[in-house]
Amino acid sequence: MPEIKKQLPLITASDKAFWDAAKKHELVMYKCLNCGNLYSQANDCVACGNPQMEWVKVSGKGEVFTYCIYHQPFHPAWKDDIPYNVAYVKLAEGPLLMTNIVDCDNKDIYIGMSVEVVFEDVTEEVTLPKFKPVKNT
Ligand SMILES: [Zn+2]
Repeated sequence: MPEIKKQLPLITASDKAFWDAAKKHELVMYKCLNCGNLYSQANDCVACGNPQMEWVKVSGKGEVFTYCIYHQPFHPAWKDDIPYNVAYVKLAEGPLLMTNIVDCDNKDIYIGMSVEVVFEDVTEEVTLPKFKPVKNT
């Protein structure tokens, strides 16, 4: 049977800077220069309509906003990963990012858990930002 590959994000003009930064292991958001709202894609500001925006580096720190554990493979390429988690992380700067929690058993994930970004180099073009728990020292 041919190997079924996992689908990767399609990089578009509006989010190319996000993926270019991820390749350099930096997390960036598109910031409105009027109201300060942050987005992961380049568009005019949804909150105030301002077209003056710039990409800014963010801390990569945040907390689990919500998550779920998949027990069914909705795509055959993920069948060996079952059960796996999909989470929304609320970045310290405000925006939500859909991601996976890594370096953590699924049973140990909880809403409000402190996490920080790590980068998984998947291909030459795509590096995925994922999040791991911040260990209390
Ligand atoms: Zn704005």
